[in-house]
Amino acid sequence: MDRIGVVGAGTMGTGVAQLFAEHGHEVVLVDVADHILENALADISRNIRLAPLVRPGTPERPPEQVTGRILFTTDLKQLRHVDYLVENVTERWDVKRPLYEELDTLCPPKVPFGVNTSAIPITRVAAATSRADRVIGTHFMNPAHLKPTVEVIRGHHTSDETLARTQALLDDVGRRHIVVADSSGFVTNRVLMLTLNEAIFVLHEGVSSAADIDRLFKECFGHAMGPLETADLIGLDTVLLSLEVLYGDFNDPKYRPCPLLRRLVDAGLHGRKTGQGFHSYERSNESGVR
Ligand code: NAD
Repeated sequence: MDRIGVVGAGTMGTGVAQLFAEHGHEVVLVDVADHILENALADISRNIRLAPLVRPGTPERPPEQVTGRILFTTDLKQLRHVDYLVENVTERWDVKRPLYEELDTLCPPKVPFGVNTSAIPITRVAAATSRADRVIGTHFMNPAHLKPTVEVIRGHHTSDETLARTQALLDDVGRRHIVVADSSGFVTNRVLMLTLNEAIFVLHEGVSSAADIDRLFKECFGHAMGPLETADLIGLDTVLLSLEVLYGDFNDPKYRPCPLLRRLVDAGLHGRKTGQGFHSYERSNESGVR
């Protein structure tokens, strides 16, 4: 079993840590504050308790069987001895860049870096390290411990060996993978973020209510979730940051974030993780609610 470093214990890092720990890997989960790690521990414990209900066929087990494999820490130096690292910190280049520079000096050169970003190009991340051939996009879907497929992105210098190592690791935790070339937003978010933003414009202009916009996508198209529910699940702050990356990288006004999105983020209404976005949520199920 590999020792997996997971940096960032927010919406995505928590699910990624749970996924690897559930499949028997030792995990080092790092964030900047104890209360964030305490929330991550509480969320993973609740997910494990509810797993037999949410995922029929999953055996009941004490949460400690899984959480006991995770070292929750604010000490980045604990990542010195990991075999593979998945980074899930805030979608801001001024946050990710200095982190990668530090991780590059901390982790042995052979350790691959899996980048779980929504939109930042993998080649840009790789350039902040001295191991560009071992940097690869591992775009997990939310919630990471439940979603079956990962979008894998080859940066300009990503080696065949790093790709094969990443695919083997994902196979090991029961995840399918679809490999794409590097581009801001990759395939998924280059398309999805436009849709979410346009749905927010439709609400902003009073064309329909939030509930009906989501119902139209679910009832007419058979989508599991409407676009505003999806934005709430991702986190409205992360949607805004992703649109800003796309807007800047493509220099195309089609990605300009809707003013209503900005207002909700300024108001601290970030979706499920804060309990309120376009809809209201309770901290009571296994769907990534924080
Ligand atoms: P989040 O805001 O929920 O969590 C980010 C976490 O990173 C926070 O807990 C923050 O304290 C931590 N952090 C910030 N700087 C750090 C540092 N230097 N060291 C350690 N921890 C640090 O965000 P999220 O939704 O989990 O997104 C994380 C990454 O995953 C982003 O790049 C995002 O674009 C990407 N992503 C998000 C989703 C989604 O649906 N939310 C899906 C796929 C990928």
